[in-house]
Amino acid sequence: MRRTAVVKLAVSDEQRDALHRTAEQYLYCANRTADYCWSDASYTECKTNKRQVRDALYSDLREETDLQAQLVQAAIKRAVEAIKGVVERWKKGQRGTQAAHNALLRLGKREEVWRKQYIHTVANEIVTEAVEHDCDVIVFEDLSDIRERLPHAKWHHVWTFRRLYEYVSYKTPEQGVSVEEVAPSYTSQRCSRTDCGFTHEDNRHGERFNCQERGYEVDADYNGAKNIGLRYARKPT
Ligand SMILES: [Zn+2]
Repeated sequence: MRRTAVVKLAVSDEQRDALHRTAEQYLYCANRTADYCWSDASYTECKTNKRQVRDALYSDLREETDLQAQLVQAAIKRAVEAIKGVVERWKKGQRGTQAAHNALLRLGKREEVWRKQYIHTVANEIVTEAVEHDCDVIVFEDLSDIRERLPHAKWHHVWTFRRLYEYVSYKTPEQGVSVEEVAPSYTSQRCSRTDCGFTHEDNRHGERFNCQERGYEVDADYNGAKNIGLRYARKPT
């Protein structure tokens, strides 16, 4: 039996905001952790034991944000590593008063840091889900023409999608899963009911899909994702 997990990469304002919020919350967790770990008095007072710091902060940070477990842990880990780096330099006598905060400021300014972390987390979840459901293949929309199809997509969306595809591709071979791409054309307009397939731009209303032919109504991304999967499944091998 051919089982396929499907990832529909859609650019909605909502998702863009969600990514942005996630990034802010990730940064918040990292900074909270750094504040907790840091001591101006002496480097021996700084907390650099990852497990202890996590035990002390994890549940609070989970409550204070709506980040997933993995991201909260990643933020804590990264902040502790930043503090460790500062402590190492302090031991050697190089101590800037604001060193720890500067280290984290850099963390915040370099968007790639959390962005990559986030994409890795998402990629891991996709691969884990595929493995748990015994899937052989993860199918993506072919993103080569994303610039033309979505002229308003910001660079970081395009960048994010490409990285996600890359990371998933890196992670799958050792799990016995392969990654495939299919053409994305009309996947959002086509009715994914296998006995229908009616394709029309009026089928889609923002986040909802409503087939004008038979009234099949579902989440628009879910409909698109089914189409991607079906397109792959029907592809001549
Ligand atoms: Zn239909």
